[in-house]
Amino acid sequence: MLRGRTAAANEMITLDEALTLIRQHSRPLPPARTALDECLGLVLAEDVTSDVDSPPHDKAMVDGYAVIAADGQPRTVIEEVTAGKVPSRKVTPGTATRIMTGAPVPEGADAVVMVERTETLADGTVRLLEPTVTPTQNIMHRATSMRRGDVVLGRGTEVRPIEAGLLAEVGCARPTVVRRPTVAVVATGDELVPLDQTPGAGQLRNSNGPLVVAAVRCAGAVPIDLGIATDDPDDLEEKIIAGLASDVLLLSGGVSAGVLDLVPGVLERLGVEKVFHKVQIKPGKPVWFGVKKKAADGDGPPTLVFGLPGNPVSGWVCFELLVRPAIGALSGRGAIGLTAVTARLAGEHHHRGGRLTFRPAVLWQDEEGSVVEPVAWQGSADLAGLVSANSLVQFPPVDRKYKAGEEVRVLPLR
Ligand code: AMP
Ligand code: MG
Repeated sequence: MLRGRTAAANEMITLDEALTLIRQHSRPLPPARTALDECLGLVLAEDVTSDVDSPPHDKAMVDGYAVIAADGQPRTVIEEVTAGKVPSRKVTPGTATRIMTGAPVPEGADAVVMVERTETLADGTVRLLEPTVTPTQNIMHRATSMRRGDVVLGRGTEVRPIEAGLLAEVGCARPTVVRRPTVAVVATGDELVPLDQTPGAGQLRNSNGPLVVAAVRCAGAVPIDLGIATDDPDDLEEKIIAGLASDVLLLSGGVSAGVLDLVPGVLERLGVEKVFHKVQIKPGKPVWFGVKKKAADGDGPPTLVFGLPGNPVSGWVCFELLVRPAIGALSGRGAIGLTAVTARLAGEHHHRGGRLTFRPAVLWQDEEGSVVEPVAWQGSADLAGLVSANSLVQFPPVDRKYKAGEEVRVLPLR
């Protein structure tokens, strides 16, 4: 059972319990005024009001002629108004103004007729080919979209490209948004070499570093790559201290039960308070989570620290299941983490084992809905097998033979 904000010693908790504990420690970061072009994916921390009427004037919605609807034929063209210009003459009976889309409708006119439905006569006058002209046609009246002082975007709204457009329309060049989290990434292991080196005997390239850095960026946070720490307490300590200055510190490797799995010990020695170690999931069981107050910021939010398993697929699954929701919560987003869908299994599947299991899978649509099939892969170290997946299919922690067509829960990847 969960007790308060930390899990009891040596207790393996469920995924839901782990997520509850993470959520308790993941409050939205403080707001900050941020340049609009940096705001994509961030959440507004304040309501935004418009400083303009939109449209700012009664405006023509088509290229054509501004006329008096009830007037007779033909009409003398008195001026031409393009977008950005202001009409100088009033439309009176027997006259019309040539007008372009977006331009202000001149005083006196009550309708705009599309240029395609008009003809210009030899004497320069214009004749409307439309049988009836309705007052207000093709005119968008001032402030019909929004009025100066209206709240146009509420606090808590995530900025997508369309919100960026609306923020620009209302002159909000530096919206107040929940700050983007910074996430330090440290790969640990004596066997690791940087990606630009050829591994020698017993070595392999640090694939987790770039994978996790990319995942952090994909989740909307700012990665800070601190490179590789060897399995040496002093080296680890130095990298961890640097990483604790960020909002989140992600370590990969060194959290299992091997003789060089030093990460939990070093973290606790540095005052990172353990919240849980080990979750009943497969892959990803050894995952470690704790929190540490930032040295420079007594009352501010703590640094969240995750020790991710070293096997690339395990670490990545833990990122998707646990770290992505934490980043979402720090960023003030309501819907956090991957969202499950239901799909039919394409074939039979025998699920063994007592842990909630996430299998990389391919998800697609057929005429009857979503279908899913686990990809062939060789387990937690098989990144090459993982790349054909676009989802994770979830099997509850019971031994069971599934028939083709049975419904299962699937997490489509982002
Ligand atoms: P560990 O959790 O440190 O015992 O690592 C488990 C497995 O993952 C070992 O086979 C490691 O070599 C491998 N591994 C650990 N860190 C990385 C990394 N950054 N990139 C690729 N493989 C790794
Ligand atoms: Mg290791």
